[in-house]
Amino acid sequence: MALLIHQFAIGADNLGVLIHDPATGHTACIDAGEEAPIVAALEAKGWGLTDILVTHHHGDHIAALSTLKARFSARVVAPFADRHRIPDIDLSVKEGDRIMVGEVAFDVIETPGHTSGHIAYYSAAESILFAADTLFSLGCGRLFEGTPQDMWTSLNKLAALPDETKLYCGHEYTLSNARFAVRFDPDNAALLKRVAEVEALRAKGEFTIPSTIGLEKATNPFLRAGEKALAEAVGLVGYPVVDVFAALREAKNKG
Ligand code: ZN
Ligand code: FE
Repeated sequence: MALLIHQFAIGADNLGVLIHDPATGHTACIDAGEEAPIVAALEAKGWGLTDILVTHHHGDHIAALSTLKARFSARVVAPFADRHRIPDIDLSVKEGDRIMVGEVAFDVIETPGHTSGHIAYYSAAESILFAADTLFSLGCGRLFEGTPQDMWTSLNKLAALPDETKLYCGHEYTLSNARFAVRFDPDNAALLKRVAEVEALRAKGEFTIPSTIGLEKATNPFLRAGEKALAEAVGLVGYPVVDVFAALREAKNKG
């Protein structure tokens, strides 16, 4: 039986996700930014909480970690590299480690760049990726603790997953990312189609997430830094792709 997935809003723009394995009753949340909306989501579904899968140490992803762990006696899985700055870890994980949520396996992918310890969780059997603040729909995370090369390498690891992989992100930033993307990639028909879809979803108050890896490869300007159109947009034709990526990220920081 496939995993059940429930996505919900936390605060202004964070996205919470619960994953439930019907075979065993195990339920995990991806990150733990705020107690009340996570508990409300669990109660709405009638699920307990057995596992918390942490992606990185930022407060909007771990502020409720200790209280949720205590309340539900949940197991906390978190990046080994962040063990000094994430509390209450039961299992610290590295690249290539495999963890179970009930009977469903998730592979740990290290994705430094946004933070040095950031990890993503990927289930090949379920075709789902929890990328948190590394890869957003039509965007990517800010480089708080990594170089452009770090982030470019991390993004390419995620882009190498199968096209049909469903992409879950840490934030609902897609509409503002879309405005940026069309400025730099205005002739991309797939992007224009996605932007129209995103505008319609947000007008109805619906999430634009999950996306897919295939859709992001076709539309996300940061994954498309190797395309000539993007190099032209930042005036760096003939430069290394990581320079194009860095220039796009720099432009996005300026809004
Ligand atoms: Zn973050
Ligand atoms: Fe975040």
